[in-house]
Amino acid sequence: MTRSVIVHGGAGSVAPARRAEHVAGCERAVAAALAVLHGGGSALDAAQRAVEVLEDDPLFNAGRGACLHEDGGVELDAALMDGDGLRYGAVCAMPAVRHPIAVARAVMEDGRHALYAAEGAMRFAESRGFERVPDEALITDAARLRWEAVRAGRAESGWAGGTVGAVAFDGAHVAAATSTGGMTDKRRGRVGDTPLPGAGTYADDLAGGVSATGHGEKILRVGVSFQVIAALRGGADAMAAAAAAIAVLASRVGGTGGVIALDREGRPGRANNTETMTWAWGSTDGARGSGW
Ligand code: ASP
Repeated sequence: MTRSVIVHGGAGSVAPARRAEHVAGCERAVAAALAVLHGGGSALDAAQRAVEVLEDDPLFNAGRGACLHEDGGVELDAALMDGDGLRYGAVCAMPAVRHPIAVARAVMEDGRHALYAAEGAMRFAESRGFERVPDEALITDAARLRWEAVRAGRAESGWAGGTVGAVAFDGAHVAAATSTGGMTDKRRGRVGDTPLPGAGTYADDLAGGVSATGHGEKILRVGVSFQVIAALRGGADAMAAAAAAIAVLASRVGGTGGVIALDREGRPGRANNTETMTWAWGSTDGARGSGW
């Protein structure tokens, strides 16, 4: 069976001059995830790997490149879900670590709790060998300039864009992963859709997998990821299911954002009602796609 992965680099409005490099970042993440799948790795391993590559890439609002909160530091949200058994692990308002998605994976594997917040998340992470890094290790000049512009009223909104996500299929199972710094100048302790099951992230082998991006306060009110899953269960193909979820987001709460999805056989779908949502897709039989 063909194995596949789809990733996004966030819904928003990437300037035309920068779109190609955003897409290239997504393509690198797909290549890394496909290497995992070619090597016999699971969907979970592949989705995590794709997100780690994007967390390392300073272009994106996750890990290195995360946006700044009201005090000028970072708090990170990340989640990962295994469609096999509906296992879930997530962290939110997490202090700086290099790979929050890897901490989410450790949460899932540990199994005692599904979601840890703030210092408790850090304590769990350190107990599993993850290191806290200084906020400065994750903050890029671009993210700081953007924060300064928002603080000074020179930028329209705090929506940073650049959240990252991946959905992978290994021939048997589906997995989804999402990671973000959230919104620029967010209040301390603010948590968006990303780490909440059915809002920013969901996977179910009986339906498919989803990662969402966009205005978290709106996305979580309609459970956008689960909207996709419900449509897939109802027999929609992945493109139609993604479009239906974004239609619900727009019509019910006036929200903007995007989703990527794979159905339970790894066929891709995506939709967004923002100017851009960078994405890339690939399968182990060599098919590729990408765009914004
Ligand atoms: N959904 C993310 C949040 O609200 C932001 C984004 O996707 O750009 O935290």
